[in-house]
Amino acid sequence: MTLDFLALSNKYDTPLYVYDFDYIADRYHALKEAFSGQKSLINYAVKANSNLSVISHLAKMGAGADCVSIGEVKRAIIAGVDKYKIIFSGVGKKDEEIHEALKQDILLINLESEAEMKRVESVAASLGKEARISIRVNPNIDPKTHPYISTGLHDNKFGVEIDVAKRMYIYAKKSANLNPVGIHFHIGSQLTELEPIAEACGIVADLARTLKALEIDIRFFDVGGGLGVVYDNETTISVKEYADMIKEKTKGLDVTLLCEPGRYMVANSGYFLTKVLYEKRNDTKRFVVVDGAMNDLLRPSLYEAYHKIEALGNENEKTPTDVVGPVCESGDFLGKGVLLPQLNHNDLLIVHSAGAYGFSMSSNYNTRNRAAEVAVENGKDRLIRARETFEDLIALEKEFLV
Ligand SMILES: *Cc1c(COP(=O)(O)O)cnc(C)c1O
Repeated sequence: MTLDFLALSNKYDTPLYVYDFDYIADRYHALKEAFSGQKSLINYAVKANSNLSVISHLAKMGAGADCVSIGEVKRAIIAGVDKYKIIFSGVGKKDEEIHEALKQDILLINLESEAEMKRVESVAASLGKEARISIRVNPNIDPKTHPYISTGLHDNKFGVEIDVAKRMYIYAKKSANLNPVGIHFHIGSQLTELEPIAEACGIVADLARTLKALEIDIRFFDVGGGLGVVYDNETTISVKEYADMIKEKTKGLDVTLLCEPGRYMVANSGYFLTKVLYEKRNDTKRFVVVDGAMNDLLRPSLYEAYHKIEALGNENEKTPTDVVGPVCESGDFLGKGVLLPQLNHNDLLIVHSAGAYGFSMSSNYNTRNRAAEVAVENGKDRLIRARETFEDLIALEKEFLV
């Protein structure tokens, strides 16, 4: 579908996030279809794009949610995700968060250390409950992605080593307040090669077999997220090959396959719309200053991530320029060396692939109101988050002003 970016930018103003909900539906169905013939659940990784309407859109198709804070768990519940489809992951959880997750009776709490297991056990005991848990295994595989988004090496803070995991399962089985039913790995994000995932999957499937032999009843095999997407000219993993590989590696295990895609589901559904304020040149460089900034879309600053940037309908000769925002940081750029035509005040730029880790990483730095978010579905657009106002930003401070 072609979106009418100009009309949307005029109707809702800029900076603006626009998400193509039909694209998200296609992605969901393609992945779900790939797992056919096997019990499976797609747990959308809420952190990629936490907008309630995005979560709700996926929940209506049957998706579950992978959450990394109790706030995300609450978002998932409010958006209509069935509680028995919600997983609570993450490397650190406060007792209050564990307490709430147990009270909500979600599908799984995912553990990342022995210390965390003891906390969950103790909170479950105080509630007289048995916590359904899964353990995140760190298979020590190099996922061949950016070091900031690589999580499956022993250098990373995530998960536990195989031996530790085994010890934890044996402990949990004996505990009256822990019920170990899941096993989990997640080796990184923006993965474009199947091989490291297959290797990790094999290692973890072997551990699951060992556990079954110890009469630890693993019923959920969670392969994490991390499926890469096209930002530039990457070749990505075919979801069919991905799912076939997982089915093959888990053969005979009798488990429900869980998968936690975030970026895969939403990255290329999203566009960040920003308008040109003015051009600025010095001896060596050309800058285009726009009304969107690093507080809106952090990925370029944080990971030097590439996002394709286009000037709509302008076919004039293009020269390289840095696209920068108004924030007072040299790191505030949306693109460097972008080929763009001569631009005028209020010309529209489209930043592509902005649906994942875009708005959800945005901030109010420099007292900038966060952008509005719009969904387009079946050719119809609707606001799914209002643009913040200055009053919103100061509300929690104003009452204390003396
Ligand atoms: C971030 C994360 C995901 C989602 O990663 P994507 O690369 O967006 O698919 C899934 N599972 C866990 C545990 C995560 O931390």
